[in-house]
Amino acid sequence: MNDQSPIAAQERPARIRKPDWIRVKAPVSKGYEETRGLMRSLGLNTVCEEAACPNIGECWTKKHATVMILGDVCTRACAFCNVKTGMPRKVDASEPGHVAEAAAKLGLEHIVITSVDRDDLPDGGASQFVKVIEALRAATPNTTIEILTPDFRGKMRAAVEAIMAAGPDVYNHNLETVPRLYPTIRPGARYYASLRLLEEVKHHDPRVFTKSGVMLGLGEERLEVHQVMDDMRSAGIDFLTMGQYLQPTPKHAPVIDFVTPQAFAAYGAIARAKGFLQVAASPLTRSSYHAGEDFAEMRAAREAQLAKAAARG
Ligand code: SF4
Repeated sequence: MNDQSPIAAQERPARIRKPDWIRVKAPVSKGYEETRGLMRSLGLNTVCEEAACPNIGECWTKKHATVMILGDVCTRACAFCNVKTGMPRKVDASEPGHVAEAAAKLGLEHIVITSVDRDDLPDGGASQFVKVIEALRAATPNTTIEILTPDFRGKMRAAVEAIMAAGPDVYNHNLETVPRLYPTIRPGARYYASLRLLEEVKHHDPRVFTKSGVMLGLGEERLEVHQVMDDMRSAGIDFLTMGQYLQPTPKHAPVIDFVTPQAFAAYGAIARAKGFLQVAASPLTRSSYHAGEDFAEMRAAREAQLAKAAARG
């Protein structure tokens, strides 16, 4: 999307300096190099690199990478996202096998798979998610699988049906921001369509964990964020992630403010009070940050809830 950003040069305010709590160490470690080498050798893309994620040093050192399937070219042009926009290439038939090989070699207990938007494909790319899940189940049956999908605009029902039949453990789809900011930040998407997708997932199988996230610092108001939390709870979403938006290049949407760690903690407390099973809220939180640990906690929280309900009779 770099050359087609909807933010015109004259509309761009000066960049605000990053506060200390956003600074991260440069990615230099043996684990980092090994993860990078494996991804390169298997020809896999990662959202860690494509989105210029600030956590890459920490995650890759621990051999946690989020694989981005269906190529590295997206058919949308969201104002916050660093992934290239254009006409994507043919779907790679060897990709599911390569993802499974990477999971096995990295010894992953939990894997997060995401993709670019593929509005050019008749199924939006759903069948590739299915093939990846099947390949992972065959190669690493004990690895829990989290998928972070696009909204499958206009093809949502069939896509959700196919993917849910493959049985992911966690279904994530990010709302990204408050509905008022969609026309500038996520112009190709519709807030209520994204919510409906997550509702549909839960409807298919109430046992699947649903997850969604928002970026803060794009100009949203506190009460708008609370409303998004309420909308998510109405759609039965189990897990909310909230992190600071960072402007990948000067052509992308500007950071309006840096939300303090204390303000993130306050949002987190409100979200927990609203009934989410799991909440991750901090400046560096990303959808897939600490996803494995958070999944284990969320599963334990649900088991505790069920045990409590059973004890009450
Ligand atoms: S937080 Fe997610 S996207 Fe960022 S480096 Fe870690 S695994 Fe990759």
